[in-house]
This record gives sequence, C-alpha cells and structure tokens, in this order.
Amino acid sequence: MTDRLNIAIVGAGIGGLSAALALSARGMNVTVFEAAESPREAGAGLSIPPNAVLLLKRTPLRDDIERITTRSPGLTLRSSRGEPISSGSPAVLSYQIHRAELLEMLLGAVKGPVRFGHRCIAVDEAPTGARLRFANGAVCDADVVIGADGIHSIVQREIGLTARPTSEGIVAYRGLVRAEQLSWAGELRGLNMWMGDGRSFICFPVSQGRLINIVAFVPSPLDMEETWFAPGDVATLAGEYRNWDAPVRDLIAGLDHTFRWGIYDRPPLPYWSKGCVTLLGDAAHPMVPHFGQGAGQAIEDGFALAVLLEHARRDEIPARLQAYQNLRLERTSGVQAASRLAGRFYRSAAGNPSEQGERMREWMSAAAWIFPYDVEEAAAALRGLARSQRQLLA
Ligand SMILES: Cc1cc2nc3c(=O)[nH]c(=O)nc-3n(C[C@H](O)[C@H](O)[C@H](O)COP(=O)(O)OP(=O)(O)OC[C@H]3O[C@@H](n4cnc5c(N)ncnc54)[C@H](O)[C@@H]3O)c2cc1C
Repeated sequence: MTDRLNIAIVGAGIGGLSAALALSARGMNVTVFEAAESPREAGAGLSIPPNAVLLLKRTPLRDDIERITTRSPGLTLRSSRGEPISSGSPAVLSYQIHRAELLEMLLGAVKGPVRFGHRCIAVDEAPTGARLRFANGAVCDADVVIGADGIHSIVQREIGLTARPTSEGIVAYRGLVRAEQLSWAGELRGLNMWMGDGRSFICFPVSQGRLINIVAFVPSPLDMEETWFAPGDVATLAGEYRNWDAPVRDLIAGLDHTFRWGIYDRPPLPYWSKGCVTLLGDAAHPMVPHFGQGAGQAIEDGFALAVLLEHARRDEIPARLQAYQNLRLERTSGVQAASRLAGRFYRSAAGNPSEQGERMREWMSAAAWIFPYDVEEAAAALRGLARSQRQLLA
C-alpha cells in the first residue's frame, strides 16, 4: 500500500460524478474538472437500469435513490393506435429519475473538489502521470486522468482516438409535462412505449409523479446536433404524431417546449486506455439511447475503475487501466449492439401486435444477459486472477 493516488476526472456528468463517488470511497484523492461554469442540467428524465442501481445502492446514497426514483417493473408496449403488444418477457425493474435530481444527489455526495469553469483543452505527459491543461490557464498533474467528458470528448482525442459517427436518420424530441395537466396522469405507471410507422414514443413519470418525461424518436433526413440544449418545435412534433393514440397526443399538447437531439451511432473504440489516461461513459462507449443503458454503463465504468485502482502502486497504473479496458470493452460493445437492435425493432412498422410481441420476446431474451451483472464482483474477480497469475510467475 502506497500513499493515496491522485485522480483527475474530466467531466462532471453522471459518469464522472459516479466515478468520483466510487474512487473516493476506496481511498483515492479525486478532483473533478467540469467545463460548465456552474451545475446545469437539461430538464429531462432518465431510466436507470438495475445493473447500475445495484451499485449506487451500495453507497451512502441508498436512501436518496429510493426517495427520488420511481420504480417500474418492465415496459408496457402499445401500437401507435394504442393496441397492447404483449412481449411476455420477464419484467426488468428499472428506476426513473429526473437527471437534475440525480446529478444534484451525486454532487452532494462526492468527497473531493468539483472545479467548474475548467474546460480541458489538452492532456500531456508529466514526469509521473499526466498533466491536464484548461482553457482558463489552469494546469493540473495527476497520477491517473479519466476522460468522462461525454460524446465530444477531448480526452478521447488526446489519446489518439477518432470517433466515426453515422446518423441513424432519427431525431429524439424530449420534454417534461406537468402531471397536473392530465386527468389520467395519476394512473400512469412505469415505462410506456408506443411504436409504429418508423417512429416511437416513450413516457414515464419522474419527480414522485409530478412530471412526466417524454422522448419521441422521429425519422429526419437532417443533420442535427447531439446536445441537450437544442430547441425543437412542439407544433412540428405534434404533426409527427397527429393520428396516434390519445395519451401520446395529450402529452405533446401538454409540452411548453421541447428539445431535440440528433441520434448518431458509433462503432466501439479500439482502446480506451493509454499510459495513465483512460475513458469512461459516453467518451468511451457512446451508444444510441434506445435501450436506456448509456448512463447505466457509465456508472458501471466508474465502479469497475475504483475496484481495479484500489491499492495500486504508481508503476502498476497502466496495467490496471488496461485491465479495466479489457473488462469493460467487451461488455459495453455488446450493450452498444443491443441498443442499435432495439432502435431497429422500435422503428419497425411491420407486423401486427402479436407478431411484434413475438419479436420483442426474442429480442428481450437475447439482451437478458445485460441486467443481472455486478461489475464490482467482475472487477474483483479480475484482480484476483491477475494476482494469482503474478504469484504463479514469481
Ligand atoms: C435522448 C436521450 C435519452 C437518453 N435516455 C437514457 C436513459 O433513459 N437511460 C440511460 O441510462 N441513458 C440514457 N441516455 C444516455 C445518457 O444520457 C448518457 O449515456 C450519459 O449521460 C453519459 O454520461 P457521461 O457522464 O458519460 O457524459 P455526459 O452526461 O455527457 O457528461 C459529460 C460532462 O463532461 C463535461 N465536459 C465536456 N467536455 C469537457 C471538457 N473539455 N472539459 C471539462 N468538462 C467537459 C460536460 O459539460 C458534461 O458535464 C439518453 C441519451 C439521450 C440522447
């Protein structure tokens, strides 16, 4: 055991803050650097899968998670006209949450400093570890640098990687509706999706049912920015769903405003770790959002890193970051592929509800491996294996 490692995390999103929580809980000194001047989060809901909630519930945030999330057993599927599509698949418990509430909770729990107004512009080698440079002139040396800076990651570029986005020809409109505006909102439970005609519409309650989050995936030939802050047009959105089931039309009519996000797919990166620098979250494995696993996988990354870096000597860091990459790349590449397939299925117009139910069943069974997974256990097993191999070779 050596003195504490100094870890610098670039990006205070869900991935960066979860990693900070997990790493500091295992005794590392963590500083988070965030480009935004102050905490800001788009008004949007998020569904967190059980494989990630499991990890957050092992932290002191356990009670807060219970308090601010709405639990839902599985997904209720309907055709665009409202006919039920029965998948018959076992229900997977997921947790719905307001992004801003999750980030506020994580920020409150992180032990080390979170420095806002620090936009990272370069990562250089340092005598030990790496040196971060920021647009405001600040410089920071760290034993380990973690790029948790999202889809347009600078750290990813700095370790020699180039992401190759391909448009899915889809734009996601999203927004929040006040539940009090809808007479039927009190009956709404869990994740609800309508699908058909090359598009889909999803809604779920957040903030103890006070708000209903909507995401509408609509075909579009236009290139659109991937950002939480690009405004969309509510009237255009209403036009896209004009003949759909009444609750879909009610929800769109209840929107004051909407935002739109162009959906781009990217293949898995060939590597994530170089020397003492690594990536996590969307910077490492950006995925299309159709399976609701992007944030979940980002949370898993941080907890895996914490297990693999715990008690590491400085000269062991590159090997530990390689082990992290090896553990995570295979799983996240599989989740990326499952998310891509989910999108294709949701957009498919073919088939009557029972045929769609059958395809949903097949697809859900093929993706079932994603949920019952404990990344801390997997990382601990990998560390144990590496230790026994070293002992055998010694
Ligand atoms: C429409 C839509 C719906 C989604 N729904 C779900 C869902 O239901 N469930 C789910 O699990 N996932 C969902 N996702 C995916 C999820 O939002 C992302 O996977 C997740 O937010 C990734 O977290 P992150 O921390 O890696 O990146 P981000 O949340 O993007 O955070 C990156 C942070 O880094 C900061 N940053 C960027 N550049 C720099 C820099 N140079 N220097 C310093 N800081 C920097 C940014 O300001 C930001 O705070 C959805 C995505 C979309 C688009």
